[in-house]
Amino acid sequence: MSIMAEELEFTLENEVSFDGRAVKDCAQADLLYFRQEDTIMSYTIDVLEKVKKQNPNEPEFHQALTETLRALQTFVDAYPEYERAGILERFCEPERVIIFRVPWVDDRGKVQVNKGYRVQFNSAIGPYKGGLRFHPSVSLSIIKFLGFEQVLKNSLTGLSIGGGKGGSDFDPKGKSEREIMSFCQSFMTELTRHTGENTDIPAGDIGVGEREIGFLYGTYKRLSNSFNGVLTGKGIAYGGSLIRTEATGYGLVYLVEEMLRRHGNSFENKTVVISGSGNVAIYAAEKVQHLGGTVVALSDSDGFIYDSDGIDINLVKEIKELKRGRISEYTEYRRKAFYTKGRGIWSIKCDIALPCATQNELKKEDARELIKNGCLAVGEGANMPTTLEATEIFTQNKVLFVPSKAANAGGVAVSALEMSQNSMRTAWTFDEVDQKLKEIMINIYNNIANTAKEMGQEDNFVVGANIAGFKKVADAMLKQGII
Ligand code: NDP
Repeated sequence: MSIMAEELEFTLENEVSFDGRAVKDCAQADLLYFRQEDTIMSYTIDVLEKVKKQNPNEPEFHQALTETLRALQTFVDAYPEYERAGILERFCEPERVIIFRVPWVDDRGKVQVNKGYRVQFNSAIGPYKGGLRFHPSVSLSIIKFLGFEQVLKNSLTGLSIGGGKGGSDFDPKGKSEREIMSFCQSFMTELTRHTGENTDIPAGDIGVGEREIGFLYGTYKRLSNSFNGVLTGKGIAYGGSLIRTEATGYGLVYLVEEMLRRHGNSFENKTVVISGSGNVAIYAAEKVQHLGGTVVALSDSDGFIYDSDGIDINLVKEIKELKRGRISEYTEYRRKAFYTKGRGIWSIKCDIALPCATQNELKKEDARELIKNGCLAVGEGANMPTTLEATEIFTQNKVLFVPSKAANAGGVAVSALEMSQNSMRTAWTFDEVDQKLKEIMINIYNNIANTAKEMGQEDNFVVGANIAGFKKVADAMLKQGII
């Protein structure tokens, strides 16, 4: 029986109805989704079932595995040497997971304790590399999904970097600068022993920007008595790279621009909706406007703004980067713009959608709404912002869809360029780094588009990105023996 993803209706949080039958949890629903066209057993399906059983209660990790293993199925089944060498079992299991206590003192003199994580996922093609996320939603499942994605993403950059991810359930919102410093110092006191410029090089992510990287780096330097490039996203004064702040957003737009160009299109005169208003969203919006598009909406976790004249990026930077305010404050300065509380940003009519906030923010009903309104392309700036069902709907409706592991790889690519500059004790100009970033993003597009075509699935960039990213790492693992 053929099972359509759209038939998966989420009813209660942990209860899913599928084809009229109740399914106990999301893990089972993912599996049914995975098997939508298959009745035959496959190495990828076996591994997915096994890994889910071994790692229960990790829904985000299961979701990332489902997308990737499904995309890899035809490719992996054609090369039995992967199965003989247990490549997928090893690929889905992190090399190391570190969980630690982070005690710190708040402004009232009270001791607080958070959980710290670092998942060192795969070092087959280089040292572990990936960001740190500070957000109350952080869990082992989220860090594992991000680490798993990072392995494939880093491989796609063409640079020698393995994958890892870390973070904490610490919430920086509403904390004083002293509290943030206290937390960062405690976090790095433990993390330092696990890092090294040739071992593991963390960076920023949600809740970790240049200020936090500065506090983390200061502690690393004090404990290790060494000045090296062990963290990226550093300030320019002490080894940071130009363009790192802009890299993920600019890189996303460079890649989507290339995809549009190959399909006889461009950003010029296009209406664009971007979710989030953090680092990725701001610089994606800036680059879209450089290329002649009009960004009409941005959001945060409370709601979204709409400005039909085009968002004033300098005003957003002032509110978000300088004042650390909320996106709703935009309407105090631009009377014509309006603010809406809650979800709903994807109901705004646009030609191109760039989800740049967080995982699973674009759901199947949003995908349907975007398609109904004529959306022709979606580029994921955030990590896994589109649910499995929404991704399937885009693919079935021929919307050009680029998954995050390819689309947002510009950030880590420039981080790797920062590492190169640090070890060479040099600093490249803005234009030099921008040019390298652009070349990397165009190469990524070529790689994923060619791979999809070779697999007989032209324009399926989910298939292209997963296979192209996986192949390089898997082949390195095969050559390095059973480790
Ligand atoms: P920031 O912390 O700078 O901004 C995050 C933005 O997303 C904020 O506007 C935030 O709103 C919003 N957001 C966060 N959580 C939620 C939520 N649960 N619901 C709705 N909105 C939410 O992070 P970045 O811009 O750096 O990261 C955004 C995404 O891009 C993440 O998925 C990250 O992993 C990914 N990414 C980032 C890279 C980078 O270089 N920075 C590199 C590659 C990927 P609020 O302020 O209300 O929380």
